Amino acid sequence: MLNLILLGPPGAGKGTQAKLVQDKYKIVQLSIGDMLRAEVAAGSELGRQAKQIMDAGALVSDDLIVKMITSRIAKPDCKNGFIFDGFPRTIPQAEALDTMLKDSGIKIDHVVEMRVDDEAMVSRITGRYTCAKCGAGYHDTLQAPKAGGICDKCGGREFTRRADDNAETVRTRLKAYHAHIAPIAGYYAKNGVLKGVDGMAPIPEVTRQIAAILG
Ligand code: AMP
Repeated sequence: MLNLILLGPPGAGKGTQAKLVQDKYKIVQLSIGDMLRAEVAAGSELGRQAKQIMDAGALVSDDLIVKMITSRIAKPDCKNGFIFDGFPRTIPQAEALDTMLKDSGIKIDHVVEMRVDDEAMVSRITGRYTCAKCGAGYHDTLQAPKAGGICDKCGGREFTRRADDNAETVRTRLKAYHAHIAPIAGYYAKNGVLKGVDGMAPIPEVTRQIAAILG
């Protein structure tokens, strides 16, 4: 079993790296953002509560997040391990996670912090989009599909952009990240599991640095 947390501001490449780690190590990517967007798309009560908060770039309440995670990590697909992308984002979430894991005798093996330059994040995020069919990630200038308008992975022709990927909301999301990251990094540094990678490096190089940590 391998359990991993990826920390980093919006746009650092957590989702991209989590997907690669998921495929290589056969562990499941748990993106709270993706789970919340699925709730919004389904029009559930939780989705309705979360939508406004997400559109404003603020954090959804710890209570809701902890409830979602508790039921998610109990699912059978987590049995080989999991990789958290975008969780925990606050100290109460980190503490709740510890309690959950202790109860089931599971531990976090590595916490990888993706260190990046904030200024670069705004253009990374405002240019990004995904294939509506398979979820493959692209970028207007940094990573366009090889054949214009056609997904490299599945041949899909429809793409979506996140409602919160606009410059103004990105700045609020970066602020929310920085308001909480120092204590969270401190929390995991104390446990000796925190490691850093250079999130400004090209995608394969970041993957190589993460693989070196995972062993
Ligand atoms: P992400 O896809 O990780 O960028 O998350 C998108 C949005 O979902 C965030 O801006 C928050 O509104 C919400 N969100 C995701 N993860 C969390 C979390 N762990 N705690 C609180 N809110 C979250």
